[in-house]
Amino acid sequence: MSELPKEPSNRGSATSSVHAGELRQQEANAITTPIYQTSTFWFRNSKEVTDYQEGKSQREEYGRYGNPTWRAVERKVSALEGGEESILFASGMCAATTTFMALLPENSHLIVTSDCYRRTRQFINQFLSRMGVETTVIEPGNLAAFEAAIRPNTKLFFTESPTNPYLRVIDVPAFAKAAHARGVKVIIDSTFATPVNHRPLSDGADLVLHSATKYLGGHNDLLAGTLTGPKEMIEPVRKALGVLGGIIDSHAAWLLLRGIKTLDIRMERHNANGMAIARYLEAHPKIKHVWYPGLASHPDHAVAIRQMKGFGGVVTFEIDTDLAGAMRFIDSTTIPYQAPSLGGVESLIELPVTMSFWDVPKEKRLELGIKDSLVRFAAGIENAADLLADLEQALAKV
Ligand SMILES: *Cc1c(COP(=O)(O)O)cnc(C)c1O
Repeated sequence: MSELPKEPSNRGSATSSVHAGELRQQEANAITTPIYQTSTFWFRNSKEVTDYQEGKSQREEYGRYGNPTWRAVERKVSALEGGEESILFASGMCAATTTFMALLPENSHLIVTSDCYRRTRQFINQFLSRMGVETTVIEPGNLAAFEAAIRPNTKLFFTESPTNPYLRVIDVPAFAKAAHARGVKVIIDSTFATPVNHRPLSDGADLVLHSATKYLGGHNDLLAGTLTGPKEMIEPVRKALGVLGGIIDSHAAWLLLRGIKTLDIRMERHNANGMAIARYLEAHPKIKHVWYPGLASHPDHAVAIRQMKGFGGVVTFEIDTDLAGAMRFIDSTTIPYQAPSLGGVESLIELPVTMSFWDVPKEKRLELGIKDSLVRFAAGIENAADLLADLEQALAKV
């Protein structure tokens, strides 16, 4: 294998998106990293095997433990997040579950925020509880509640930032300081931010996790997850992945590598579209409320402008109507696809009530603020004028 180029750490995220992590000199002088479509890697002789086992050579061994295509993605994500090492997983959920399994000992304690990805919450309730892991849920903005929740056996604080669907932004420096004072590690699910808009590790977080299915991949064509942080925290998770087996296929890894090359430039458009849509909706008479961290009306606006470079493409809003009216609105849009997910070039739209909160009892759902007419719009990279015109004609049907 040829040598990795030395990458100056002061490069911007557009340059790192394109170049970081990839070998300058590829097989046959190719520019792009190949898809290493192989399940195993051979040794020329027994000495090569023993050298490898003794750590004297750097190479791959078996497909579940690594693949050169993944390595390029891992290095690229590390450069973008400003972290030492990264791991690639089959999905964002796999990144979260493997990380929890690896870093939470039996009978330990975990703190999470209330506006938490529903499947993560399900894993906590159904699986972590079996390992005797207890969990406390706090409000995203409540630092005092966080400090009060910390126990002697608290190991991790896990939160999204921004959260879904209300896009709450965690004051990472403040939470990290409080956590570290009590020996608690901080994991940020930064899926909605991306390293272009926020780098949690430079704000004091210990680990940063992504559903790379969303903005990192960016084309609604793959599922993947990542975890980035210091080597000593990444190593046990990498070992757990080798045992649990939730690895990505090398073709999907290559699509992700290709997707990340345009991350910076795509985020510019997602940020601009998100802001334009949020402003437009906030001024619309049929809209009751808009949640977008770039708006002064958002509860975490001050934290967001301090901490983030842009606010992403997701806008959550409540229409002044009932479920039938909200459905009529969504069915009248012509550009966004009605689908779960976000972060791809195609705009997506959904009603949380009929999508991710379908199986939540009504009282519980309303308690979480998920009203019938709540809409999540995940802006793609289309022209803002076209997206606004589409929203305008669809709102006229409500
Ligand atoms: C989608 C998502 C996940 C889960 O990721 P998958 O790639 O779908 O497994 C986790 N966290 C957030 C914030 C997400 O949006």
